[in-house]
Amino acid sequence: MERRVVILGGGTGGTLTANRIRREYPSAEMQITVVDQDDRHVYQPGLLFVPFGLTHPEDIVRGVMWRGRFRG
Ligand SMILES: Cc1cc2nc3c(=O)[nH]c(=O)nc-3n(C[C@H](O)[C@H](O)[C@H](O)COP(=O)(O)OP(=O)(O)OC[C@H]3O[C@@H](n4cnc5c(N)ncnc54)[C@H](O)[C@@H]3O)c2cc1C
Repeated sequence: MERRVVILGGGTGGTLTANRIRREYPSAEMQITVVDQDDRHVYQPGLLFVPFGLTHPEDIVRGVMWRGRFRG
């Protein structure tokens, strides 16, 4: 029987958790769904570098397609 896990929050903790579970269980064995209020993930430490022009907002934000890979 396929197992399912739902992760509430697709920030740093949710992303790391989803990645670790996926490494342990292929998509045929485990369905992972990440639920978040936003369809974008912001890499928060990168925000420190934006005001200084050392990175750009588009480089630290990933969209909803990135989350799709966790779903099985
Ligand atoms: C400027 C800055 C620099 C940082 N630098 C570092 C660093 O150098 N090293 C370090 O270790 N940490 C750093 N941090 C801290 C680090 O980013 C946070 O500790 C980490 O992101 C926390 O992870 P989290 O998963 O708990 O929360 P988040 O990453 O904030 O994820 C929470 C997720 O839950 C979602 N959510 C919240 N409420 C709801 C709701 N009601 N319904 C649905 N979804 C919801 C949010 O949309 C979000 O995607 C920095 C933070 C900032 C702001």
